[in-house]
Amino acid sequence: MIDMIQGNLHTVEANIKAACERSGRARDDVKLIAVSKTKPVEMLREAYDAGCRDFGENKVQELIEKYEQMPKDIRWHMIGHLQRNKVKYIVDKVCLIHSVDSLRLAEEISKEAIRKNVTVSILIEINVAKEESKFGVMTEAAVSLVEAISQLPNITVKGLMTIAPYVENSEENRLYFAKLKQIYVDIIHKNIDNVCMEELSMGMTGDYEVAIEEGATLIRVGTGIFGERQYTTV
Ligand SMILES: *Cc1c(COP(=O)(O)O)cnc(C)c1O
Repeated sequence: MIDMIQGNLHTVEANIKAACERSGRARDDVKLIAVSKTKPVEMLREAYDAGCRDFGENKVQELIEKYEQMPKDIRWHMIGHLQRNKVKYIVDKVCLIHSVDSLRLAEEISKEAIRKNVTVSILIEINVAKEESKFGVMTEAAVSLVEAISQLPNITVKGLMTIAPYVENSEENRLYFAKLKQIYVDIIHKNIDNVCMEELSMGMTGDYEVAIEEGATLIRVGTGIFGERQYTTV
């Protein structure tokens, strides 16, 4: 197992480097988030020992359990759909919430952040491909959502996130990544107070190289590091 994760990380790292070179970007502009959902802490430790410090989880309960067991210098990323009643458990534990797609959710984050005396960094999740099955705000509503959230205390909008469609050929997602980048640039030009657009979270195992070429600063890789996930059906 140790060899598998270390080997996978080397492969991913080589791919990141190559994609950065192809697109004239610095390697430091792209941060790899190891998406460890469903995987046991033993595997997370192996990734940690191999140098990973950014981990992504999509369930609050699982994130908290792993947070308790893993070293404290890890930066935890909440990348999954977040229910308002669970916000209070994670506001002081995560470095970034990638999946904010409504004002009501942002208001709850702001409220809990005030209570815990922290400032929470968030990304706005945008459904650029307009997939019915996906969370995320529609492109047309993105700017007004960012403007509304920027008024809330103890919360800072740091950028945008999208989950591209599942495709066989990653080139099919290039236009969605380019579109997210365009929305990002549009928002920068609006100079909204308390919004500092720095991060574009896009690209997963199947398409992170294309995402890097289109400007991703955060890529979320699970399968490519930890192997296929096994979901038990209930
Ligand atoms: C699971 C997940 C990933 C990682 O997916 P892989 O295809 O295994 O790399 C990335 N982003 C989000 C939001 C996820 O839920």
